[in-house]
Amino acid sequence: MSRTSCRFCGSPVDAVFADLGMSPLANSYLPPEAANSMEPFYPLRALVCEKCFLVQLEEFETPERIFSDYAYFSSYSSSWLEHSRRYAEQMIERFGLGGASHVVEIASNDGYLLQFFHERQIPVLGIEPAANVAKVALQKGIPTLVEFFGARAAQSLAAESAADLLIGNNVLAHVPDLNDFLAGIKILLKPGGVITMEFPHLMRLIEENQWDTIYHEHFSYFSFLTVSRVFEAHGLALFDVEELPTHGGSLRVYGAHAEDAEKPEGEAARELRERERGAGYERLETYLGYGRRVEQDKRQILGFLIGLKEQDLRVVGYGAPAKGNTLLNYCGVRRDFIEYTCDLNPHKQGHFLPGSHIPIRSPDVLREDRPDVVLILPWNLKDEIVQQLSFIREWGGRFAARTPELTLLS
Ligand SMILES: [Zn+2]
Repeated sequence: MSRTSCRFCGSPVDAVFADLGMSPLANSYLPPEAANSMEPFYPLRALVCEKCFLVQLEEFETPERIFSDYAYFSSYSSSWLEHSRRYAEQMIERFGLGGASHVVEIASNDGYLLQFFHERQIPVLGIEPAANVAKVALQKGIPTLVEFFGARAAQSLAAESAADLLIGNNVLAHVPDLNDFLAGIKILLKPGGVITMEFPHLMRLIEENQWDTIYHEHFSYFSFLTVSRVFEAHGLALFDVEELPTHGGSLRVYGAHAEDAEKPEGEAARELRERERGAGYERLETYLGYGRRVEQDKRQILGFLIGLKEQDLRVVGYGAPAKGNTLLNYCGVRRDFIEYTCDLNPHKQGHFLPGSHIPIRSPDVLREDRPDVVLILPWNLKDEIVQQLSFIREWGGRFAARTPELTLLS
């Protein structure tokens, strides 16, 4: 096997963090006409760098292929929209943004976030690699460039579009060339400007056993210590951090030019670095024991599902998120355990989950079909979903979800 070099520091990487076997791309939902065709599977194996402790996937597929027809439209989740609206309000107030400011978002999706700045007459620009998604943003009046962000794109934009606030939410983990991406940020950020980024926190992934958030589109998994090093290497300093409940536990980091004396490191940033250091995030052993916990969890999940089927219960899924596909494919769960899954997104309905080929239906079928157990795949949204589907209790239906152990909810 060829040796992989670290996506950040270039050191050879071969320490295994978690090996989830062979898996198709988690966002490759199959249309009905492809349901009987061959599907490409790739190794889904996360490694950890012994030098900088970046947890990362080996690369098997080009980013263009992974992202060119991305089915995810942010505006379909009401809680995510609310999160975005509050974020925009906070930033406008904290950094005094107004009509003379410029807000740029990388991976701006369908404009779900920039619309809240746009409404307040603050000039915005979105940069989004998926053309079908960018088109929706343009229809809403959000200026959007269809492009992969990096140093080259930043150079052509910097003269006219340098940013007072540069946003990258749930993009850092998806960046194939981390150093080129950070170089672009350094170029596009105005002197005195602020960058904020949100991404899942590796500490939550490890402590709460969220290995199903590992999938091919997700190249890197960051602790605050490691992400601080990555920014530092590009002349940027992280001066603040918030821990958010989104996606099972995310960080929102605040960065500025390292030479910006007006933004000294705050208490929250210092405290989190110390907490991670204390928990062993700069020691290889902390990472090497994780794979065994993943294997144990697979046995628990299969034991739970076998138990339900042995009682002759009918089990269906709810949601068709990427993390559901990692779970189902790693555990080898197919229609023998889960008859179908339901999703509100009309772009996914009528399609099949990659690998498992479980059909995706509209949530409307639940009332008629009356399954015994609804397994919630996006466990991070379980409270919202339990409320929406409380009617399944009319026929004695029950919910199941990972909490982090897979269990029936009371
Ligand atoms: Zn490294």
